[in-house]
This record gives sequence, structure tokens and C-alpha cells, in this order.
Amino acid sequence: MKLVILDRDGVINYDSDQFIKSPSEWRPIPGSLEAIARLSHDGYRVVVASNQSGIGRGLFDMDTLNAIHDKMHHAVQDAGGRINAIFYCPHTADSKCKCRKPKTGMFERIGACFNADLSKAYVVGDALRDLNPASQLGARPILVLTGKGLITQREDTLPEGTLVFADLSEAVEHILKS
Ligand SMILES: [Mg+2]
Ligand SMILES: [Zn+2]
Repeated sequence: MKLVILDRDGVINYDSDQFIKSPSEWRPIPGSLEAIARLSHDGYRVVVASNQSGIGRGLFDMDTLNAIHDKMHHAVQDAGGRINAIFYCPHTADSKCKCRKPKTGMFERIGACFNADLSKAYVVGDALRDLNPASQLGARPILVLTGKGLITQREDTLPEGTLVFADLSEAVEHILKS
């Protein structure tokens, strides 16, 4: 099974330090919707794995998160693609959950749900907390330089074998060639 796991904020849509708290604040990065569509057309399952501690902090509620994700699903569909599932961690950093990235729990659940070999999966993110669990699980980490990506590239030690691309569009170009 061909699987790509995407971080959401800073990869698919513009990130905000103030959190994405409403559908109107969810704005796609140019080319990201078309990139997802290309993956869909090539037979990839596209799954989102996102930390959404704004829920745990009470900044927005589940209805709002669902409305944001409805907007994202429709935007991708309008571009001809499909997000097969969205996994998110609603907990705050100090809750001791197993799903908040950089923990591996969310990725393991995705692997189990899709019966997928994570060692063949690509994980695309803009932060170390996306790349490190990917690397730990033997998946293939890809850093994009959108969102926090430039800061991540400059300041952090990337897991061995991490590939770096300007944005999701270029990352997908690589995935489709490999
Ligand atoms: Mg991000
Ligand atoms: Zn969690």
C-alpha cells in the first residue's frame, strides 16, 4: 500500500502562531491541493497527522475543528484529490498522551488502520516533531521549507536520510519519481 502521511499546518495550509481557529483562517499553500491530487491519482493514500492542542487549550472546539477539516476535504476534492483520513492529537504538551508528535502513537495508529508498512511510507512535515517519529518508525522523512521549515532546516539536526524540498509540490514531484 502506497502511503503518504502529511503534517497539516505549514505543509498543506499556512501556519499561524495564533493557531488555525476557524475555517476562514485555513488557507492552502499554493500548489499543495494539486500536489495531493497528484498523489491520489497515482494510487497513494494520503493521511494527515496533526497536533491540534488548541482543542486541549480550549481555543476552539471539536465542531470548529470538524468545520476546518470539512473545508480542507472539499478544497482537496475540488482540486481532484482525496485526503483518506485525518488523525489529530487534541491534547496539550503537558498531558502525557501517546499521540502528540514527536511521539510515535499517531503514526502507529495510521499504520494499523491502513494495514500499511510504515517503512515504505513517506512522512512530510515542516518541523522536527514530524520528522523524528517518522525516522524512529523507519518511515521516510521529508522536510518542506514552508511553514516552520526554514527555521527547522537552519536550527535543527535533521534525522539521517531526511530529504528537503521547497514545498509539498516539489516533495510530491520527488515521491512520484521514486
Ligand atoms: Mg507543521
Ligand atoms: Zn494526544
